[in-house]
Amino acid sequence: MPCVWDYTRLKQLVQSASSNRKAAELPAFVERMAPAAVRIPDCVVELKGAGVRMRIQMDATPPYLTWRAILVFIVRPLIILVAIIVVSLTFLLAFSATPVVNLPASLTALGQATPITVQVSDPHGIRRIAALVEQDGTRHRVWEKSQPSRRVLWQRRVADSTWNFTAGTGTTPQLHEGPARLIVEVTSNDFRGSTAQAERGLVVVTRPPTLSIDSEQHYLYLGMSDLVTFNVAGSWTEAGVRVGDQRFRSWPMPGGKPGFFSLFAFAWNMPAGTVPLVYATNAAGNEVTGQMVIQFPKKEQPKYRVRDLQLDDRFLQKVTGELDPNGSGDTVARFLKINAEMRHANNKALSDIRLKTEARFLWSQPFLQQPNSTVESNFADVRNYFYQGKKIDQQVHLGYDLAVTQHVGVVATNDGRVVYAAPLGVYGNCIVLDHGYGLQSIYGHLSEIVVHEGDMVKRGQVMGKSGQTGLAGGDHIHFSMQLDGVQIDPKEWWDAHWIRDHVAKRVDLSDFGY
Ligand SMILES: [Zn+2]
Repeated sequence: MPCVWDYTRLKQLVQSASSNRKAAELPAFVERMAPAAVRIPDCVVELKGAGVRMRIQMDATPPYLTWRAILVFIVRPLIILVAIIVVSLTFLLAFSATPVVNLPASLTALGQATPITVQVSDPHGIRRIAALVEQDGTRHRVWEKSQPSRRVLWQRRVADSTWNFTAGTGTTPQLHEGPARLIVEVTSNDFRGSTAQAERGLVVVTRPPTLSIDSEQHYLYLGMSDLVTFNVAGSWTEAGVRVGDQRFRSWPMPGGKPGFFSLFAFAWNMPAGTVPLVYATNAAGNEVTGQMVIQFPKKEQPKYRVRDLQLDDRFLQKVTGELDPNGSGDTVARFLKINAEMRHANNKALSDIRLKTEARFLWSQPFLQQPNSTVESNFADVRNYFYQGKKIDQQVHLGYDLAVTQHVGVVATNDGRVVYAAPLGVYGNCIVLDHGYGLQSIYGHLSEIVVHEGDMVKRGQVMGKSGQTGLAGGDHIHFSMQLDGVQIDPKEWWDAHWIRDHVAKRVDLSDFGY
């Protein structure tokens, strides 16, 4: 029975406490001070104040349990307590967060041990994250991580987190080749601890793809191209040819024939001994490579010429004025920046145009060299730049400089589509034609362009006029070709026999006139 008291009864008790010498003064004192100074535990009332201290033992019997006491000491605190609990719970719930889980778009397959990265955003952090793989109605837990719970004093503004784990047949041998589902569950680290999950349908891949490659002889010459055909079986996502760190796409054989082909380049600067490989990868990250029959005729490799170019002030003024109009300072330094940095950026931009290609041959005849032109510079000439007798730079010239007369019509080397027609730094006014399957031709230094991006052009069609825009000292056409973004020597493509033997005979190049 709790000790409750009645105020009137307390006054009576105090008045009757005749042992205290100041008892007579107490009633008034109690009236003034008592409510604030009363202590109930152990049924002892202690009154303090104005130099008076008094302890009264109270009896805890029912007569003192008045309705007022019940209201004051039981009901009211109870209501307050419930209210506090309700408000707190509402507050805790209202401010609890829900996690957001993101699985990478690239995740489409599980292999032996496939790395998986999960992004989680939750302002209160997470208490638990678990990954499951479901196959044939059975769920396998493949990974789990927990953190200490924070139900009340949770963290705030927790940064998004990244979780890495691997899953696959290595750790879950019950999985077999075929479709499955990855489920990632995340629980927020706060009061409510709400759980969110992300799901992804994927395939379990246990076998790498298989390759079978043609048995043709593939001759490799620096700066030149070749074509390989192959078949790929099994589950695969990407296949092509890898030469050093360069990759060349593969395409389904034209004309509905089975198999694939890749046009690839052996770049002018590829280290001797580099072996081109046909490769195929699957979504589980397995890669298989295969070798083609290659020949690398050492003695017949192209020898790059070295050319010395004398720069004069008139040329430097022309180039810097055109390509660095707002620059200031030393003209030679400005020229060097253009010749290195701008050239590099322009070659990168050209390489990126490889993606604007069509999966079909847009041409059916050998490529044309600019009619009546004189070759002034060869592909991959090494150029030493001299100024006032001193060598100041060296660059490799990736193309042919073809001179005819001033402002001669620049013709399309073959049928194709205009994929670029605008100024391009050192190349001046520049046109890029796509001929399909990643093969493109490039025309630089034009004084005038009369075609537009998207136009289809015919072999021999005039697309503009030669000039000396960009890094050019005289009127000429800079002509070059690229294969999947790697600049190549165009001369093979000017050769009908080479095209017949290396392209037309290996794939169905319909109506190739040779
Ligand atoms: Zn050139």
